[in-house]
Amino acid sequence: MSKIKMTTPLVEMDGDEMTRVLWKLIKDELLNPFVELNTEYYDLGLVHRNETNDQVTVDSAEATKRLGVAVKCATITPNAARVKEYDLKEMYKSPNGTIRAMLDGTVFRAPIIVKGIEPYVKNWKKPITIARHAYGDVYRASEMKVAGPGKAELVFTDEQGNEQRELIHNFKSAGILQGMHNIEDSIESFARSCFNYALDTKQDLWFATKDTISKKYDHTFKDIFQDIYDKEYADKFKAAGIEYFYTLIDDAVARVIRSEGGYIWACKNYDGDVMSDMVATAFGSLSMMTSVLASPHGYYEYEAAHGTVQRHYYKHLKGEETSTNPIATIFAWSGALRKRGELDNLADLCDFADKLEKACIKTVEDGKMTKDLALITTNPNPTTLNTQDFISAVRETLEGLLA
Ligand code: NAD
Repeated sequence: MSKIKMTTPLVEMDGDEMTRVLWKLIKDELLNPFVELNTEYYDLGLVHRNETNDQVTVDSAEATKRLGVAVKCATITPNAARVKEYDLKEMYKSPNGTIRAMLDGTVFRAPIIVKGIEPYVKNWKKPITIARHAYGDVYRASEMKVAGPGKAELVFTDEQGNEQRELIHNFKSAGILQGMHNIEDSIESFARSCFNYALDTKQDLWFATKDTISKKYDHTFKDIFQDIYDKEYADKFKAAGIEYFYTLIDDAVARVIRSEGGYIWACKNYDGDVMSDMVATAFGSLSMMTSVLASPHGYYEYEAAHGTVQRHYYKHLKGEETSTNPIATIFAWSGALRKRGELDNLADLCDFADKLEKACIKTVEDGKMTKDLALITTNPNPTTLNTQDFISAVRETLEGLLA
């Protein structure tokens, strides 16, 4: 069998710890035997980030702007313990944060659904994709504690020195204050990323805020979404047979729980933070969540939603057996390859990506899985495999599907 060809290279961002081990296994067992992989390789492993003073992260994001599609392995975000462990020159910022800021993107997280790993919410049949706005609000807030009576005001001074004032509260006793902001450009980028991703994946888009209570702040989010939708997307949505739906956040929560899934739920920053963990847990497992950074300029970066699985890596280093789930990382590759295939009109590459995903799902549904899934499956007799053996089992299923 001749290997599938690629025309444009993928930006490949290697990473850390157990997911770096998975990365190599996935390439050796599931990609290189079938695809003539064409990638531009960037090593975002912490050792190399340190050697390059983190320049490699910036270079990989620049490459994504040039080539359009990237696939990323999980990476360590350094804390004090990591600075010591890796003898770092400084406590580098999160690579994901750096890349997201450079691509101006929104992160979309979706669960991989497999029979036998049942959501806690019985009626959820299709994935619910959470899109989280990644700028501002409480994450960039200024806060204050006040010790006693006094007047708190919001004051905005424009460049000419004109003041705009708004009373917050006349304090009669001690209390707390918070000032937060957002930027129209950022909300517009978020809206366009969401509308584009909905069209891309042919799913309805839901958006919710608390605009009845927050008549200027949240209402601006609602208005910007509606405006952009009406001007730029209404016709495209109609042609694609999908809908844009706005409601209040409390109504959205009730509808999400009663729904069968199959849509994108756009959330403000804090809502997305909370709801993405709720949705991931309710679907069963963090190791089965995918993540795509999509920018309004048409750049895509695919990755697993989980981290580097540090505990398994230390076991691996000691020569002990691990049972680490590679599925979300495999789906990062299949997502990126499919997107490359779509952009370059390579039907066989898209078909390979579909079959690679099917192979993962079928292997688990046939009862072979890693330990994290074996612990929660409704299958009464699962076969628990170690990391290597699970990947070999997926390869066997994949060869069957490709034959
Ligand atoms: P983690 O996602 O690696 O692990 C969290 C828990 O989930 C652990 O109990 C782990 O055993 C389990 N788990 C996660 N993925 C699994 C898989 N594929 N198979 C089996 N079990 C799995 O998160 P953490 O432990 O909080 O962080 C470890 C490192 O990962 C940190 O250095 C952190 O900075 C980094 N991190 C990176 C990303 C990213 O690159 N996108 C995201 C989160 C955390």
